[in-house]
Amino acid sequence: MSQIDRRTLLKAGGALAAVALTSCSDTKAATAGPDGLTAAAPDWAGFTKGLTGKLYRPGETGYAAAHQVFNPRFDSIQPAGVVRISTVDDVRESILFARKNKLVCVPKGGGHSYVGGSTVSNGLVVDVGSARGISYASGAVTIGAGAKLYDVHAFLDKYGQSIPTGTCPTVGIAGLTLGGGMGIHTRTYGLTHDRLISLQLVTADGVFKTVSATQEPELFWALRGGGGGNLGIVTSFKIATIPANKLGFFRLTWTEAQAAAVVRGWQRFAHEAPSTAWGNLHIDAQSNGTLSIHILGVSITGSAAAAAAQVESFVGAKATTRSVTVKTHMEAVRYLGGGTTSPRTGFLAGSDVLRGPMDAATINGVLGAVKTAARAKVPAAAIFDPLGGQAAKEPAAGTAWPWRSALGVIQWYCGTAAHPTSAQLAAAQKFVTAGHHAVTKASAGGYVNYVEAGRSVNSYYGAKLGRLQAAKKKYDSTNFFRTSYTLS
Ligand SMILES: Cc1cc2nc3c(=O)[nH]c(=O)nc-3n(C[C@H](O)[C@H](O)[C@H](O)COP(=O)(O)OP(=O)(O)OC[C@H]3O[C@@H](n4cnc5c(N)ncnc54)[C@H](O)[C@@H]3O)c2cc1C
Repeated sequence: MSQIDRRTLLKAGGALAAVALTSCSDTKAATAGPDGLTAAAPDWAGFTKGLTGKLYRPGETGYAAAHQVFNPRFDSIQPAGVVRISTVDDVRESILFARKNKLVCVPKGGGHSYVGGSTVSNGLVVDVGSARGISYASGAVTIGAGAKLYDVHAFLDKYGQSIPTGTCPTVGIAGLTLGGGMGIHTRTYGLTHDRLISLQLVTADGVFKTVSATQEPELFWALRGGGGGNLGIVTSFKIATIPANKLGFFRLTWTEAQAAAVVRGWQRFAHEAPSTAWGNLHIDAQSNGTLSIHILGVSITGSAAAAAAQVESFVGAKATTRSVTVKTHMEAVRYLGGGTTSPRTGFLAGSDVLRGPMDAATINGVLGAVKTAARAKVPAAAIFDPLGGQAAKEPAAGTAWPWRSALGVIQWYCGTAAHPTSAQLAAAQKFVTAGHHAVTKASAGGYVNYVEAGRSVNSYYGAKLGRLQAAKKKYDSTNFFRTSYTLS
């Protein structure tokens, strides 16, 4: 998205956020009946007239941009319509139109779903991207569901505040929060969704609701970690903020020969380090067939040098290269995000949640999977993010996030061309499958924000599955929000 487009949307977002907070009553009910009342072709013209926002249909100017998501691999998916909403009423009208016409309906926030989950062939995309107004008062930020992470951080920085998020500047607050939200602050302050105070959404029956610990608590529980696209279209989030302090960073590299020791050392660090320290481990396939190994770490309040020394002692070897720096909040946001925006990128990825430390054979299997990819010149990486700390201290039953006691999450990531050939896709999938295979014994499931094709949806929910399915039945009794990646 260009900076001009971004500014335009920011302006529009202010208007929508105000509407989102004031114009809808929690009790306004749907006016349409159940699915399938009409067999006639959808009345797109009538639908457009009822919208304040804009509908894009195939062949129309603007459709090509409107139907794109972050990963160009999904450009071939052609929705029957994309609504760029301007008001909460647009969200409700879209849901009712889709119900009436039996169209699959998917919400779209930042568009970064790993499987293109925010677009759908022949269905209706409800793009909340213009709902990006943000306001702050008394330790809480209210964020329109269309806001992107960089915008949230830049806004909050003016108040000396932040929230725990992931790192990519263009990831949407919506998908990130609904599925969890892991990043450098996870061990100190919990995941993004752990700090949710309330949110507003339109459910499958077209009803606008505010949900919190005291209003519709079961829906609030399910929306915290249950994943986007399942239970309604969220229009805004209210999140408790954290201080935007300076952060100490360290970056340590080792040789390929030390890789197994580094994985063991990272596992100890994830288990034993103070909750103010965080570090993620990257094992990257190089085009010359070798592996590069590094740990990027942060000390939230303590000394980054001390945290780096602790990592080295757990690895049992000094790093080959070592850098330690201090960054302001916004320097850190830009450093981690690679700037203020992120270009559309082709990739295929998946994940495993580690129950606990991997044994030697499993570690060898992980290294073998990346090495095989390196030898085949496949740009693969295994990226390990720690959990623990505050993420583990939150009450286990408090939210739908199922992985409180886990050690961390491995992401199997493979870059691809924007429009990869089937051979490139097959090579990337082969790496992801090899990664899963390597950690079968150690894996508890997957992280729903790293959702992948061909995997059981249930594997993202662990012990929370039954309660989530009950919430889905209660709040979406006709299974209106239904794709290959939703709860059922
Ligand atoms: C480059 C990149 C970096 C990432 N880094 C991190 C990271 O550091 N930490 C981390 O935890 N995750 C990370 N992720 C994963 C990211 O959190 C998920 O992909 C997330 O779902 C993206 O949200 P989105 O709004 O951008 O995507 P979308 O594709 O718009 O939405 C994702 C899902 O949520 C649904 N959804 C979207 N908007 C709404 C809404 N308003 N109401 C209800 N449902 C909605 C969609 O239908 C879809 O199913 C990263 C992803 C990418 C591509």
